[in-house]
Amino acid sequence: MNQWDQIAVQNIKTAKQPPKGKIRLSGPLEHDNIVNGDGLRAVVWTQGCPNHCKGCQNPETWDFDGGFLIDIDEIEQRLSEFKGQAGLTFCGGEPFVQPEACKEIADYVRKELGWNVWSFSGFTYEQIKAAGGTAWEFLTSLDALIDGPFILGQKDLSLRFRGSKNQRLLHLRLGTGEILKVE
Ligand code: SF4
Repeated sequence: MNQWDQIAVQNIKTAKQPPKGKIRLSGPLEHDNIVNGDGLRAVVWTQGCPNHCKGCQNPETWDFDGGFLIDIDEIEQRLSEFKGQAGLTFCGGEPFVQPEACKEIADYVRKELGWNVWSFSGFTYEQIKAAGGTAWEFLTSLDALIDGPFILGQKDLSLRFRGSKNQRLLHLRLGTGEILKVE
């Protein structure tokens, strides 16, 4: 691992967690979103990001004490009221610094609502794997991960669901995290 990877792994492992049963969000839940994954999707916007990419469109989501705390039960209840959604996407902020809370929501929408689950991350798949623990467990509950930081110099708005060429759309085997396909 290079120095960048080591810092990323450390950031995943040491991130300030929300209290048990809660998640810290940066904005209201969305539904019928078509730009953050396949089909009509609900979106959970998480708060807190250590990556600080140059050119980030949502720097107000960086503060780990910003946004608002909300009960996971309430999120699940609100998501269950959205009809006709193909799935849920976690956007940030950085979802992988609140992996336990995100996994709980991911498991709920899959089991109770029959949705697939995608997540964005400014970390790479390899960094999340190296961090292990609940971050890796959250990854294994996903159908797809869009990984890597936004790099302004590699900006390309023609890519599906991605902002820069270094980012990958990884289709994953549910339960194992195995990469099935890379876009
Ligand atoms: S990972 Fe996403 S939210 Fe975090 S700084 Fe980079 S672009 Fe912004």
